[in-house]
Amino acid sequence: MIANDLHMHSTHSLDGNHTIAELCTRALQLGLSHIAVTDHVEWVPGGAHQRPDFDHYFAELDECRSRYAGQGLQLLSGLELGNPHEHRDEVEALLARYPFDVVIGSMHWLNGVNIHYSSCFDGQEVDAVYAAYFDQIARIAAEIDCQIIAHFDRIFWPGTARFGPPQIERIEPAVRNAVRAVAEHGRILELNTRFVTHEPGWNDSLLTVLRWYREEGGSFVAVNSDAHRVSEMGRYRSIGEDLVRSAGCLPYAYLSSAVPG
Ligand SMILES: [Zn+2]
Ligand SMILES: [Zn+2]
Repeated sequence: MIANDLHMHSTHSLDGNHTIAELCTRALQLGLSHIAVTDHVEWVPGGAHQRPDFDHYFAELDECRSRYAGQGLQLLSGLELGNPHEHRDEVEALLARYPFDVVIGSMHWLNGVNIHYSSCFDGQEVDAVYAAYFDQIARIAAEIDCQIIAHFDRIFWPGTARFGPPQIERIEPAVRNAVRAVAEHGRILELNTRFVTHEPGWNDSLLTVLRWYREEGGSFVAVNSDAHRVSEMGRYRSIGEDLVRSAGCLPYAYLSSAVPG
């Protein structure tokens, strides 16, 4: 098993429940050697810009780094940028100002609606929404200097709740275009383990996307928990790694010499 988890949230995110120190303690219990604390940076459409106070974040992180390094845990800094391609100047300024180890690019908003809600499908054809989502993923991969593209399946969660499992072959061109962009630009696709046990047949869709990623030139996949509380760290990790290997890809090990970039 790869002993890292490069996507999780602390109390520096609005929806995070545990401190960086609590995440570190749990990581050691799980036998992880590397974790990245990747708190949210969001531009709410028509509303607030939500981001941690990164001076405080780094002060706390640095304190934990020295405290936990001796116990065998490498603590990485990071952030999760929501729809960063729509805010490129601010993203570039933020990345220039702080030394982030792990930069995650994510799609959270589509046409101004949070894709957490199935209302993002209102008045639209389901496959058109899926394709639009993957078109934006391709843009993030091409335009943003990030290492990881998070939760490619995020749009399937509300879609499946409303319409049943995705008919993945019907959106094959858009998905292939997105995963090709991820590979071409040297990004790493994430397999988010949150919903790998979603429902029977669900993992087949994930496996198909991972196979297309492999066929389009991708190799490494970051198997990440996206934990918002310590109990979610490491969840379904072995299921995720099995899926990655079944697709002919490799679970991404941070700092592995085999990793590009
Ligand atoms: Zn996210
Ligand atoms: Zn996240």
